Amino acid sequence: MTGAPRLGLMLGDGIGPEIVPVAVRVVDAALSAAGGSRPDWVLLPVGASAIPEHGSPLPSQTVEALEGMDGWLLGPHDNAAYPEPFASQLNPSGAIRKHFGLFANIRPARSFPGARAVVPGTDLVIVRENTEGFYADRNTFAGTGEFMPDPDTAIAMGIVTRSGVERIARVAFDLARTRSRRVTVVHKANVLRLTMGLFLDTCRRVAAEYPDVDVDDYHIDALAAHLVRRADHFDVIVAENMFGDILSDLTGELAGSLGIAPSINASRDKAMAQAAHGSAPDIAGRDVANPIAMILSASMLLRWLGERGDDAVPVDAAQRIDEAVARTVAAGVTTPDLGGTCGTEDFGTAVVDALAG
Ligand code: ATP
Repeated sequence: MTGAPRLGLMLGDGIGPEIVPVAVRVVDAALSAAGGSRPDWVLLPVGASAIPEHGSPLPSQTVEALEGMDGWLLGPHDNAAYPEPFASQLNPSGAIRKHFGLFANIRPARSFPGARAVVPGTDLVIVRENTEGFYADRNTFAGTGEFMPDPDTAIAMGIVTRSGVERIARVAFDLARTRSRRVTVVHKANVLRLTMGLFLDTCRRVAAEYPDVDVDDYHIDALAAHLVRRADHFDVIVAENMFGDILSDLTGELAGSLGIAPSINASRDKAMAQAAHGSAPDIAGRDVANPIAMILSASMLLRWLGERGDDAVPVDAAQRIDEAVARTVAAGVTTPDLGGTCGTEDFGTAVVDALAG
């Protein structure tokens, strides 16, 4: 990355227009503090507000603009609330992930010292395969793997390919080398013998290339129970698409709140920062949403950009953001989901102040 990064900005629905601008303020402040230039933010239409003007929640002009960028921030969307035919179509983030082949969804769950958590000490990462698996709406080239042959019968197709599992497993094992050198493979190979059998077998073959990394595996149902009991025992968990999506809501909440669960969706040359949570329509417009997940997702994007471009400035900025958020929470400044009374905007201001201090 040379000079100011050019980053796409999509607000999305629900709490998106509240949390995304907070993340932008924090990124600007962190890059300045690290001696870099503020990004050139390019605002792009996505979500319910894009439908009246552009005829789609994901206008083609948005996708075309993203082609020219290395990275972007995507707010959450509430596609279930879109009018038909959009509610039945692949949602905006799924469509973007599919279009750009963003196969790796990295979802850390980390509790904050000094903040409440169901399992204090949680510090793990879900590595979720993003382009195939049991989410039938994105595992075909054209059409969908979900269909109704008659009005009373619905069929969904899951897809697992050796190459798809190999590449996500390598992401997980490489990540484990930067952490505690432990990978847990989650599956259900005792029932889904072919699909999950291939997933488990492929992960084990990749594991053989990493003799320095310990590997174990759990059935998805057993792992859900073990996570509630001792999430602090796990480190890197690799999962197919739907299992990873479900587990990461669980682990986010175990670490304190879904509102602190960040994520990045990456291919080899593009990355999208996106909170692991949804658009939270139940709390939208009330200045109570926790912006931490969106802020930390933006931080993950900066780290990804810096490491890929061999540029220390965005990596430094990301580190500053992570520390400023942790300091702010440790000082007792939190939104209601973490037990505090701080508003979304004010939390952002507190983090910006912590970056300056
Ligand atoms: P999706 O399917 O799009 O992931 P969802 O149906 O899983 O969405 P969310 O929108 O993630 O649901 O919301 C689940 C719960 O978590 C809601 O009660 C919501 O208010 C809460 N929540 C989600 N994000 C936040 C946040 N940033 N701050 C506080 N609470 C949140």
